[in-house]
Amino acid sequence: MDCLIIGGGIVGAACARELARAGATVDLLEADYLGSGATSAGMGHLVTLQGVPGELEFTRHGVEAWRREADELKRAAEYVQTGTLWIASGPSEVELLEQQSDAFAAAGVDAELLTRTGLVAAEPALAEAACAGLRVPGDAIIYAPKAAQWLGRQSCDGRLRVHQGVRVTRVGQDWAEADDGRRFAAAHVIIAAGLQAKALLPDLPLVAKRGHLMITDRYPGMLRHHVLEIGYAASTHAQSSVSVSFNVQPRPTGQILIGSSREIGVESASEDPAIVRQLARRAMQFLPGLAEVSVLRAWTGVRAASASGMPIIGRAKLPGPLGLVWVAAGHEGLGVSTALVTASIVRSRIVGESLPEGLEQLYGEGVS
Ligand SMILES: Cc1cc2nc3c(=O)[nH]c(=O)nc-3n(C[C@H](O)[C@H](O)[C@H](O)COP(=O)(O)OP(=O)(O)OC[C@H]3O[C@@H](n4cnc5c(N)ncnc54)[C@H](O)[C@@H]3O)c2cc1C
Repeated sequence: MDCLIIGGGIVGAACARELARAGATVDLLEADYLGSGATSAGMGHLVTLQGVPGELEFTRHGVEAWRREADELKRAAEYVQTGTLWIASGPSEVELLEQQSDAFAAAGVDAELLTRTGLVAAEPALAEAACAGLRVPGDAIIYAPKAAQWLGRQSCDGRLRVHQGVRVTRVGQDWAEADDGRRFAAAHVIIAAGLQAKALLPDLPLVAKRGHLMITDRYPGMLRHHVLEIGYAASTHAQSSVSVSFNVQPRPTGQILIGSSREIGVESASEDPAIVRQLARRAMQFLPGLAEVSVLRAWTGVRAASASGMPIIGRAKLPGPLGLVWVAAGHEGLGVSTALVTASIVRSRIVGESLPEGLEQLYGEGVS
């Protein structure tokens, strides 16, 4: 079995390693360098999330898969098991926290509800507005571009070959052609090109969701957990044109990464100062100490989202008589969390194995 993977973001790199480990000869074709797309722009929060149906099982498997490799990832990709702290700021949000706690318990995800006292003990810098919390200790953070490069370095006895600087311009069921005229052939073609998958598969229903982030100078000890407001999960699937949520992460350097926003249908890379100001205001509402810090820079990245809110993993029809290819794209704000589980779904669909319960219902059909 040989495979061509188009796109070396976190998803393509994970698929490449998974298939090479399963015995396939894999050529991973990346237009720029591994991890350079949306993967380089995000927060790298490995988060168990309950949003649209199926998301909890999908992210649970995803976060667990990274955790199984934690020892190596600590050295290779700055993996730290910070846990996630979800916070509520009023009675209706406390109810949401309780519902999330029940759902996590039913799914076997370790999580602990915290009163204001528990919350202060966990994160002393949080404002009084945060009145309760839900701590998910198994969640973690990672430096995603390094993780993509680490996946690509695992040659699997020479079966995984990485080609950087190779942009694919045309694909067929068992071939791909690059802009330098080279042609690659394999039994299976897997398109993992993020939002740019649309250039190869024009009918793929992907929508851009631009996000802004900011990073501060170093303030070691200011924060221990990745902290988010409970409304964040709903904002990831919101249909409003712009949304901003409190979403902050302590980097291993002591810097604080501050997110996050969503603008549907915006692909431009330039920053919008009004959104940067909204992000800062929202963050200071829950973490007043941020008023005293220096922000080093802000940037944007573009998430690729599907209409259903769940990624597209399966087979897709190429235009005209070109046949079928595999696709793994549209992971919105969860592509890092779920890259390894996506890779195992792709492998099992290609080799015809069944998936663990929960995922079989989601991705058991084989042809999407
Ligand atoms: C602001 C922001 C915050 C985020 N935070 C998180 C988070 O905390 N946790 C989380 O799990 N996820 C997060 N995400 C989402 C996550 O970054 C993405 O879901 C994930 O990186 C998608 O990976 P990918 O491999 O599908 O796409 P990409 O990383 O975009 O990779 C696609 C690759 O394909 C290559 N490519 C494209 N076209 C071609 C072609 N024709 N030929 C060859 N190569 C090609 C590109 O160069 C690129 O490297 C965030 C995203 C953003 C923007």
